[in-house]
Amino acid sequence: MNIAVIGTGYVGLVAGTCFAESGNNVICMDNDKNKIDNLKNGIIPIYEPGLEPLIIRNVKNKNLHFSTDIKKTIKNSEIIFIAVGTPPDEDGSADLSYVLEVANSIGKYMEKPKIVVDKSTVPVGTAALVKKTIQKQTDIPVQVVSNPEFLKEGAAVDDFMYPDRVVIGTSDPEVGETMKKLYEPFVRTGNPIHIMDEISAEMTKYAANALLATKISFINEMARLCELVGADIESIRLGIGSDKRIGYSFIFPGVGYGGSCFPKDVKAIIKTAQKNNFPMRILESVEQVNEEQKKHLIPKIKNHFKNLKGKTVAIWGLSFKPKTDDMREAPSRVMIKELNKLGVKIQAHDPVAMEEAKRLQLDKKITLCDDNYKALKGADCLVIVTEWLEYRKPDFDKIKKLLKHPVIFDGRNIYNPKNMKELGFEYYCIGRPKK
Ligand code: NAD
Repeated sequence: MNIAVIGTGYVGLVAGTCFAESGNNVICMDNDKNKIDNLKNGIIPIYEPGLEPLIIRNVKNKNLHFSTDIKKTIKNSEIIFIAVGTPPDEDGSADLSYVLEVANSIGKYMEKPKIVVDKSTVPVGTAALVKKTIQKQTDIPVQVVSNPEFLKEGAAVDDFMYPDRVVIGTSDPEVGETMKKLYEPFVRTGNPIHIMDEISAEMTKYAANALLATKISFINEMARLCELVGADIESIRLGIGSDKRIGYSFIFPGVGYGGSCFPKDVKAIIKTAQKNNFPMRILESVEQVNEEQKKHLIPKIKNHFKNLKGKTVAIWGLSFKPKTDDMREAPSRVMIKELNKLGVKIQAHDPVAMEEAKRLQLDKKITLCDDNYKALKGADCLVIVTEWLEYRKPDFDKIKKLLKHPVIFDGRNIYNPKNMKELGFEYYCIGRPKK
């Protein structure tokens, strides 16, 4: 099939590449010329494990093309995916301006009937709105499908190639069949393709992210209570996770969720509910708990040092989670802002997000170090914000030698408090008693 993916970000680039890999002819289009020029020159704009060789192979096989020309892209494709950003508006609802701008162009340039697929995460009613926007420009019929994406950054290629499920929202059985054919190569192990109406598909995405965010805020709130009563959240995590009804995923305590999805999607669904005069009390609390959790280590650092002015803190981990360079809504950014306010100097390291940190101009506020041990030199303590694998078994003797004081604030509970005490560290973490 001839496919267009408009918006070549984390979702669009992965989806386009994987569709090319499964034998389709794909154009990935973006209005960011720099991004497209880089892709044409084999420079991949994001860090995503396994993506680069797939892009290179499919470009070489002439299955995958990059373009900034929306007119040609629309003309040459039967199925057009919209995968542009839907960031939060000032009031928290999803900003649909990018989606509708693309819809407008589709209406303007299409010369034959098309299937248009909303791949971006969009609120209920957007498929209808996209259709209306297109049909304002043309009488040529268009079918608009909602096909939310569930990939995780850091495992995006695997998630797209082997999805737990595919959700397709369409009221047209023929369109449903075409979409099914497109996805069949990815569900050969028998995972389901759920076909449902457009609105339910749109809601499915928000419901999934809202539930996952709820699990995270739930365990973080439990961890805070553990700190007050002296219980150990890690024992509790193991104790509840082995219950199959609960499971181990998304119950790791930490300094809160971030990224481009959970924060904005929780906000957006709260807003949808408010617009329907229905306050979503659970999700409002989920968001509030998360905002507080991002700052949870700050009073611990303050209490330890009493006066923080002139102190230097080393931070390990800037991306919102391991295996990605994405720093959107990352807890590290809140931590840096709060510590800066307290007059603290920061030396930070991240295995892959250093370029992103520079793009965000963080290098004007903090010192970025290309080696995690360099970040420790002369610092008063270490704060772990992202649980990168390479931070899990560090050289503790080296850490002790480089830090002015052997103090670690671990926002991801990656070390054992008892071991840390034996190694001579003052070790603070989330929801665990000091041993
Ligand atoms: P992104 O910011 O990485 O990419 C969006 C791309 O769209 C950018 O490259 C931008 O230049 C481009 N763009 C914007 N307006 C355009 C236009 N008019 N024409 C052409 N290109 C345009 O965003 P993302 O993380 O890939 O997310 C895209 C959507 O997918 C969002 O709705 C998001 O919520 C959803 N989603 C994201 C993830 C994730 O993990 N990142 C997972 C599932 C769903």
